[in-house]
This record gives sequence, structure tokens and C-alpha cells, in this order.
Amino acid sequence: MTYDAYTERIKRLLPDEWEAFLRASACAPSLRVNSLKMTPARLETLLGVPLDPVEWCADGRYYPEEFAAGKTTLHEAGAYYIQEASAMLPATLLDARPGELVLDLCAAPGGKSGQLAAAMRGEGLLVCNEVVPSRAAILSRNIERLGVRNAVVLNESVPRLQDRFPSAFDKILVDAPCSGEGMFAKDPNARAEWTADSPSICAARQKAILDSAAAMLKAGGTLCYSTCTFAPEENELQVEDFLRSHPEFELAQLRTAIPQPRLADFVPKAVASKCVRVMPNLARGNGHFFALMRKTDGDDISLPKGRYSVPHAMARVWDDFAKSALKTTAIVPGAAFGDSLVMLPDCCPDLTGLKTLRSGLRLGDVVKGRLAPSHSLAAALSADDATSVLDLPHDSREARDYLFGATLEGDARGWCLIAASGCSLGWGKGSDGTIKNHYPKGLRPTRSH
Ligand code: SAM
Repeated sequence: MTYDAYTERIKRLLPDEWEAFLRASACAPSLRVNSLKMTPARLETLLGVPLDPVEWCADGRYYPEEFAAGKTTLHEAGAYYIQEASAMLPATLLDARPGELVLDLCAAPGGKSGQLAAAMRGEGLLVCNEVVPSRAAILSRNIERLGVRNAVVLNESVPRLQDRFPSAFDKILVDAPCSGEGMFAKDPNARAEWTADSPSICAARQKAILDSAAAMLKAGGTLCYSTCTFAPEENELQVEDFLRSHPEFELAQLRTAIPQPRLADFVPKAVASKCVRVMPNLARGNGHFFALMRKTDGDDISLPKGRYSVPHAMARVWDDFAKSALKTTAIVPGAAFGDSLVMLPDCCPDLTGLKTLRSGLRLGDVVKGRLAPSHSLAAALSADDATSVLDLPHDSREARDYLFGATLEGDARGWCLIAASGCSLGWGKGSDGTIKNHYPKGLRPTRSH
């Protein structure tokens, strides 16, 4: 019954191509190579499966259906992120640069945050926020796995962020909660949850989120709005309404080679001609909508400065660890929270009172005058960054066993970075010919994996 309502709406929306649209099946699965850790060419060689480029994302690749991309050690090592191809476009369009202040407002599970982080290459500030606590935890884990050094992960409501960070960000991504029609081809649950009211309920929520995003953007800043749905009230009509109520914004002209559908006349042409839709009957993606808006007028207010420091004794503990375990000098603690040391992103704001899951890169805890390095630190290091490395072939039994918690053999002494084909997996601690496993228990896969 409700699904009939969806079909009827699609017929009205796509007068020429509704049949082809409704017949279109889910496209091939895809992944995005994490350029903080890997290159597409090397990943293809290592995995030994054909990877087919996603035309709108340099690091995007389709992979064969039968390949279990989520079950490899390289996935655990953060070499790539499984991501639907059309979902790779918003972060590409936002074009985050190293050194910028970027906010990903609806960020879990973190595909687009990971992509923004890769573009920023550890420089600048990436604030990733997710309002649902369980989803924020997944976001935080993904940020860790991908080896991101410059992210703050928050679990906040959007209005509370708006109060704290007015006119502060260079770039904001609103990948909005939506009625999810782009998921229908792939996920039967998405169909079951849809009702004829879903688009209007979602549109009201999106409008509130967009209003807050507008207030958090600096003059001259860029806002990318995206949904994975086809309903015009969540897409072109939403953007039209936003521009009407925010004269300080202008809609940027998006130029891509992605073929666009002919939409019915009730969809505002002036908006539609500047936005982009990925439609499953026209492109190799399950469905997405994008608009890019520039703030031409308003304030530019510095983020409220945090007062962070590292006690001298803790700094010495870090120096001792870094001297023996690290070759890189690029990692420096900027804050201590209790016994924990953290490397802060550039311009890290005052986060007091905000539900903060991550305030940069966790380096480790000071325990009895020594540093117990964190898993986050291991994930953010390359094999070249550490003094002692056990680099296992990614498809070896040993690499797999390490993830399950096995003790390894090796003559390392002290902290040793365990890597899979050059991609860090976690820590081990060596003595007397064995390397004790420090891969976090909570991350170890179950045996069915
Ligand atoms: N950007 C994410 C990614 O690439 O992995 C996907 C984001 S998903 C489309 C939208 C997110 O918005 C969900 O994680 C959802 O929990 C969150 N959300 C739901 N209601 C919200 C609200 N009222 N304000 C802000 N975010 C909300």
C-alpha cells in the first residue's frame, strides 16, 4: 500500500523514465581506498580482485559481488572503507583542504568523514558529529580504524553545536537524515520503514539542521547538502526553501559528467539545473542528491579557544616513549585528560561540556611512569613511523591470528607495531622471542568472521 504511494510519486516525478528507474537494480558494491594508508593500485595488487574506478571519486572502486570486502585484514587495518559509490560524491564536491575548519554535522557511520579526513591529510580541524549515541560510537571507531589524526568526534544535538560554534567553519557537510529511497534497491528494511509521510517528516528535520548549519558557517564558507533519497521536498524544494529564507547564501553551479534525469515541472528548474542527482537508471550509484551553497555575507568568528596543557612529567614520559618507539617526530601531545595524552588537531576549540568521544589522536595512558600507547596511535602510524615493526603479509595466517588475539613469534623488544602488508594493525610487546598481543579485545572479530 505505502509502496504504491512511492511508485505513484516516482511516476509523477520522472514522466519519461519512471519505468527504467523502477526497474534499475542495485549497482555493484564499492569501496573507497583510504589514501591516508593506501593507494588504489597497491590495494588492487594486494587484494588480487579486479577493482573498477568510480568515475566521480579518484579513490572509489567497484568490486565484485562475491568478494567479502568487510572480512580482510586490510579492512581491519583501515586501508579502505566500504562505501556506496554515489555517497562518495558529497565529500568530493565539498573539496575540504588541509588546514581548513570543517564540520561534518550528521556523520555516522563515518564514510564521508573518512573521506574529508583523507583530503585534509591530518592538517586543520575536522569536527565529526553524530546525535545518536550508539552511532557516534561506531563513527569514533571508524575514525580510529582509518588512522585519522585531526578529528574531534562529538555526540551532540545540532542546536547545542550551533550555540557553541557560531560563524566558525570554512566548510560544512550536511548529509541529512532522510527517507532513504536511494537504499530501496539494496535494503528491503529501508522499504519497510518508508511511509507516504516519510518525506515531509524528514524535510522538517532537514530544514532545522540546515538552519543551524547556516549559522555555523563563516562568511565565504561552503555548505554541501546531500540526501540519499529521491523526494523533491527533501531535495530541490528543500534547497529552494533554504535559499528563500537565507538570502546570505547562493547556490553554486555543480558541474559533473553524471547524466541528469528530466524532472517533472513541479520541481523548480532554477535549483535543479545547479544541483546533481545520481539516479540508478542513469549512473553507477544507488541514488543521492547534492547541492552546494556559498555563504556570501555574515560573520567570521574564531572558534572558542581551548586551554589545553600537558604536565611536564607526562611530557617527559611521552618523550621517552617516542625516542624508543617512534621514528616520526610529527606526533606531539597537546593535552592531558587525567592520565591520557592526546595530540590535538590544529585550532582545537574548547570542548568543555560537549559530549566528546575523541578530541584528536589519543596517544596513550601514563601508567606507573611509562606510556601504554593507545590503539588509536598504532592505527594512525605508518610502518615507516615506528622503530620496531613486524610487517606480516596481509593474507597470512599470522596476520589473521593477530586480530584474534594470538601471541606472535619475533625477536622484537618492547613496543612493536604489527602491520599487514605495510598497513598498521595494532601494537604488540616483545620479549624473549614472543610478541604479546595488544590488539584491543573489544575489536577482535568473532570466529564466524
Ligand atoms: N554522513 C554519514 C556517512 O557518510 O556515513 C551518513 C549520515 S546518515 C545519512 C544521517 C545521520 O543523521 C544518521 O547517522 C542519523 O543518526 C543522524 N540524525 C538523525 N536525526 C538527526 C537530527 N535530528 N539531527 C542531526 N542528525 C540526525
